[in-house]
Amino acid sequence: MLDYQEFLKEILIDEQTLQERISQLGTQISSDYSQKSLHLVCILRGGVLFLTDLMRQISIPHTIDFMAISSYGAGSRQSSGQVRLTMDLKDDIGGRDVLLVEDIVDSGHTLSSVLELLTLRKPASLKVCSLLDKFERREVDVPIDYCGFQIPDAFVFGFGLDLDEYYRDLPFIGIVNTERFQPPE
Ligand code: 5GP
Repeated sequence: MLDYQEFLKEILIDEQTLQERISQLGTQISSDYSQKSLHLVCILRGGVLFLTDLMRQISIPHTIDFMAISSYGAGSRQSSGQVRLTMDLKDDIGGRDVLLVEDIVDSGHTLSSVLELLTLRKPASLKVCSLLDKFERREVDVPIDYCGFQIPDAFVFGFGLDLDEYYRDLPFIGIVNTERFQPPE
């Protein structure tokens, strides 16, 4: 695999800006959930880096769990609105204060389906924290209670987000050079 710089058009959000915003989010969440029992649910795989940095900025006791999903018509960014659970949560969320931790909300179909699925399990509360919001591409109205950054309509990678499964480890969010990599439609 080539060096990431081959595919990078420009850095959209640098490491320091990301970390400062994550720290602010952690402070806000710690305050909002101070009287609650916070349970963070991370959607694999894109949310992993965000989760691990966010939880270190949350100053109240909390628990974590993971789930993995795949969109019908995988390989495409145009999710149909239906998601399939490929790995379920370990713990029951009934009666718990769940905060869903996502990497990016694009059309909103994935988040909408996940919220529907988790609501059926009757959590005490269910909110959403997404690092990125590509609001111009929204097709379904979904609530984002905590948002890191609103970003323009461009395919991004790094900090959990992949380019053909690579470069999730990068500490910044970059915009792809579409002359070198064609994002999935
Ligand atoms: P949705 O359109 O359902 O809101 O988002 C579907 C999924 O597409 C996201 O969870 C994310 O995995 C992926 N996705 C959307 N936009 C981007 C992007 O700019 N870069 C990467 N790497 N993945 C994206």
